[in-house]
Amino acid sequence: MNTRLRQSNSHQETLGPRCSKKRKVKKSAKILVLLCACFMFFFLGQTCAGIVQSVTSFFTGTEPSLTQKLTNIADAFEETESEIAEKEKTNPWNLLLINSSNPLPPDFQVKLKKFDDGEGGEHYVDERIHSDLLEMFEGAQEDGVYFQINSAYRNAKEQQHIIDKRVKKLMDQGFSYQEAQEMVLEVVALPGISEHEAGLAVDFGVGKGNKSWDSVYEWLKKNSYRYGFILRYPQKKEELTGVAYEHWHYRYVGKEVAKEIKEKGICLEEYLENR
Ligand SMILES: [Zn+2]
Repeated sequence: MNTRLRQSNSHQETLGPRCSKKRKVKKSAKILVLLCACFMFFFLGQTCAGIVQSVTSFFTGTEPSLTQKLTNIADAFEETESEIAEKEKTNPWNLLLINSSNPLPPDFQVKLKKFDDGEGGEHYVDERIHSDLLEMFEGAQEDGVYFQINSAYRNAKEQQHIIDKRVKKLMDQGFSYQEAQEMVLEVVALPGISEHEAGLAVDFGVGKGNKSWDSVYEWLKKNSYRYGFILRYPQKKEELTGVAYEHWHYRYVGKEVAKEIKEKGICLEEYLENR
């Protein structure tokens, strides 16, 4: 027994260092695996926590970056709206100056509304002047004056067509193209610089129920300001307006401004310059 034990011990002693080395390697491997597992566990934990937080934040709406983004977008819209409001305050739509030096902006847009002048014509004006124009027609009729609209809104193509037609007529009468063009442009504005393109101007004619020309234009000259309209190209203001006297062409500027222009006897260019 003792001998066997001794033998066994001596065998263990003989194999001892190799087994110890193996154990050390095994131990190191275990530590390494444990470390790797810890690392993986930590990494996965962090990632999962991040995902869970993002998803939760998205649904609860507390994600700071998302909220910030939405706030920024809202701010951007608010700025644009306030910019528009500021622009409208300093340069209101009813005071838009359109002449040879101030063409319509390329992105100009107008919302039109059909106007029935009771004389069978089909005309369109800026929807914002519609009610005042209607009031003016009713006011004139109460005074026994009947007029009609000869022309209101015209697009650029229609404007050019009017010029071409008049130039041709004058050339048929013997004028050269240049002479005819110059004569026409004294009374008809080129496309882009016509108030008719803005839907803010109306050319009036004599209505069927009216007997004399004078009464119509006298009435308009005297009363149109009450409804927000001005005689746009008055006599003795040709140098300022750049357009010859047109007793038929009225422009909407709003009641308050029309009253001031009428009382001071000035044209729109003068009003805007001293505003
Ligand atoms: Zn006109």
